[in-house]
Amino acid sequence: MKVTVWNENQHEKSVPRVTELYPGGLHEYIASFLRDDDVEVRTATLDDENCGLDDDVLDDTDVLIWWGHMAHEKVPDEVVDRVQQHILGGMGLIVLHSGHFSKIFRRMLGTTCSLKWRDGARERIWTIKPNHPIAEGIPETFALDCEEMYGEAFDIPEPQEVVFMGWFNGGEVFRSGCTFIRGNGKIFYFQPGHETNPSFQNEYIQRIIKNAVKWACPVKKNIEITCPEFKALEQ
Ligand code: ZN
Repeated sequence: MKVTVWNENQHEKSVPRVTELYPGGLHEYIASFLRDDDVEVRTATLDDENCGLDDDVLDDTDVLIWWGHMAHEKVPDEVVDRVQQHILGGMGLIVLHSGHFSKIFRRMLGTTCSLKWRDGARERIWTIKPNHPIAEGIPETFALDCEEMYGEAFDIPEPQEVVFMGWFNGGEVFRSGCTFIRGNGKIFYFQPGHETNPSFQNEYIQRIIKNAVKWACPVKKNIEITCPEFKALEQ
């Protein structure tokens, strides 16, 4: 499997806490726990030419992971067009945390993807589809002592599946782990992962992202979608 981890890599330049928690930036940290004998991982950031997401990179990517927050609007529309075409052609997409407002996630879902938020909450995650491949090895429930509250209503189209629900100590609830299918591509949205909280160090969070990569990995990618006039095969 070939994974590209994309991170806007902006907070890393101004907030020391981020690189204290995640040396090398969120992209390098996420790449480091995904890399193994079966998973080849490269990283790309906003600072790279064309966001590091040229056709040759996307052609060679089974699953793209996306983390962004303060610079969504700096991602050029041509890059979003290209990523969308690759997802429709079969590439998997995993959108983490504040990526809910990324251009690519809103493009794929077609809604505002708006939600409620407040940093500094305790979250309890519930696995509500224990037989789902993304939930493999994850207990029925686990807690994150410090995570950003994301609350309903989350303005997304009805998900294909809600695998995880989040409860927060302010009383809010959230569809924390949702799947979508768009064209030939599988999409997973996962809520934990605020840049100054240690969630990506959590063994279950890492396991969920690894499972999601496996789930979203296409059997066949770069599928061309055309609209041909078609001659009858039988008389
Ligand atoms: Zn956040």
